[in-house]
Amino acid sequence: MSLPEITARIDAACDRAGRSPAEVALIAVSKVQPDARVEAVLDAGHRVFGENRVQEAQGKWPAWKERYDGVELHLLGPLQSNKARPAMELFDAIHSVDRLKLARRMADMAQELGRCPDLFLQINTGEEGQKAGVAPAEADDFIHEVRALDLPVKGLMCIPPVEETPSLHFALLAKIAARNGLSGLSMGMSADFEEAIALGATHVRVGSAIFGERVTG
Ligand SMILES: *Cc1c(COP(=O)(O)O)cnc(C)c1O
Repeated sequence: MSLPEITARIDAACDRAGRSPAEVALIAVSKVQPDARVEAVLDAGHRVFGENRVQEAQGKWPAWKERYDGVELHLLGPLQSNKARPAMELFDAIHSVDRLKLARRMADMAQELGRCPDLFLQINTGEEGQKAGVAPAEADDFIHEVRALDLPVKGLMCIPPVEETPSLHFALLAKIAARNGLSGLSMGMSADFEEAIALGATHVRVGSAIFGERVTG
């Protein structure tokens, strides 16, 4: 796979769904990839990237942001409250807001920094014990509470359980977003981004299908 192939598949999926490709952002997930692979994608002109860990991103993205104009960075992995500040300084969007304590910390930081990344609230659609995100039954209250903090909530994010049909989870996420008047849907990865687009994804997070298998992690 390669970037042009993924872009072509996104375009085709949009076409089938009667949607415009302009509605779907491709986040190239560069976590633990060798620098040369990421630079090849930057050189090809792609600018929207995703990382899982604040510390890893801090180690590589400031230099690339210097070299390449218009980089847009998305944090996809779990965020500890004590990393809220560096995360908010480095990232343009954070997809893993999953508890009120973190949201409150972000609201304080937003005051201090005078800006805030776009936020996606993570919903644990599969209700998996080990996975981050709020349970679907608690989603409406959580969305309401985070919005009351005056934070820029763009939409919702989910990571379906590996052994289940992803479409059921995408449909559930879309339903929760719709009834809360949220338009952003961060869903779909290498194996299922076309299904996600069919169900309304606005942000697909594609790693290995662009860069190749991750060497570690
Ligand atoms: C790693 C990761 C991705 C990308 O996964 P691929 O299967 O390599 O496309 C997407 N979203 C999150 C939250 C991830 O951690």
